[in-house]
Amino acid sequence: MWQAEAVVDLAAIRANVELLKAKTSAEVMAVVKADGYGHGAVHSARAALAGGATWLGVRSLPEALELRAAGLTAPILAWLLPPGTPLREGVLADVDLSVSSVGQLAELADEVRRIDRVARVHLKIDTGLHRNGAPPDVWPKLVEAAAQAQADGVLEIVGVWSHLACADELGDPSIDRQLQVFHDALATAELAGVAPRLRHIANSAATLTRPDTHFDLVRPGVAVYGLSPIAGETFGLRPAMTVRAPIALVKRVPAGEGVSYGHTYVTARETTLCLIPIGYADGVPRHASSSGPVWVNGRRFEIAGRVCMDQFVLDCDDALVTAGDEAILFGPGDDGEPTADDWAATVGTINYEIVTRFGRSGVPRRYRG
Ligand SMILES: *Cc1c(COP(=O)(O)O)cnc(C)c1O
Repeated sequence: MWQAEAVVDLAAIRANVELLKAKTSAEVMAVVKADGYGHGAVHSARAALAGGATWLGVRSLPEALELRAAGLTAPILAWLLPPGTPLREGVLADVDLSVSSVGQLAELADEVRRIDRVARVHLKIDTGLHRNGAPPDVWPKLVEAAAQAQADGVLEIVGVWSHLACADELGDPSIDRQLQVFHDALATAELAGVAPRLRHIANSAATLTRPDTHFDLVRPGVAVYGLSPIAGETFGLRPAMTVRAPIALVKRVPAGEGVSYGHTYVTARETTLCLIPIGYADGVPRHASSSGPVWVNGRRFEIAGRVCMDQFVLDCDDALVTAGDEAILFGPGDDGEPTADDWAATVGTINYEIVTRFGRSGVPRRYRG
């Protein structure tokens, strides 16, 4: 290894999906938005399908089209489609589209009439997250308009769905409240003659802890990549991403020397400094300055001083290290190396953000398994 890399263990992704699938009788939609949470959307999608997922979920139309262009034929749902999105391309590529408003439905119907195809639609109800989805007072109108469009042969209502706000907080009362709104919305749809094949609301946390949220389909994301949505519980998931870098240079410096920009770190004694060629442009949070954990030759060290754009320095004390040795920022934790959870705790964020940062930067990705 002569440059930093993110190694993605596809066998782990496969095994994680198998584990999730074993927890439910519902179908599994693997969420591969944000380039598969930084793991690579296409590779992750293939691994997830091999593990038993039957659906793929993404935010945007371009993400869905990327999967289609790679030859993936599994059903795909795209859920964040601002006005002006070329929905027609989505319909032509057999992408299921989420609809949250009557205006959006009209826009879609307009596009579809021009190409003489039937759009596959999932109607979204806002049960309380207050992000996307039709609010309950508008829901009957949306259902009615969609039922009419379905009768006109413009679209097929494949799903009714929603998203939970606090599924990662066990026992949070909002979960039951959202479920109640969801049940009401389904009843309203049924009264309007809408019988969707797929009702879905569960993310990773709900898939792992709330069987009563599974309905016909679950939509795990972070758990697919082996990260737990709930701190302190692993559920047997296996983290798929390892980020590692070669040590570029090793040097001894005396006590009392400032290290990196601003000299915010000063050596307490004569020590060995290692230069690691990866920085905040590559995903290392600048907030990890003087705190980010890094594993070298079986020991954990901390970043010394500020993380720079393209490199940082590690204080390796009197450890025996040589230029070219491997520095692991995080991995599955098998040998005691830090994990994405450790990094998240260190910089005050969530594991989701850690892997997404590294995976979406210029760090080359390598696949195994
Ligand atoms: C991201 C996302 C998911 C997956 O969430 P996780 O917490 O990663 O399991 C599911 N559904 C929607 C709508 C999402 O945006």
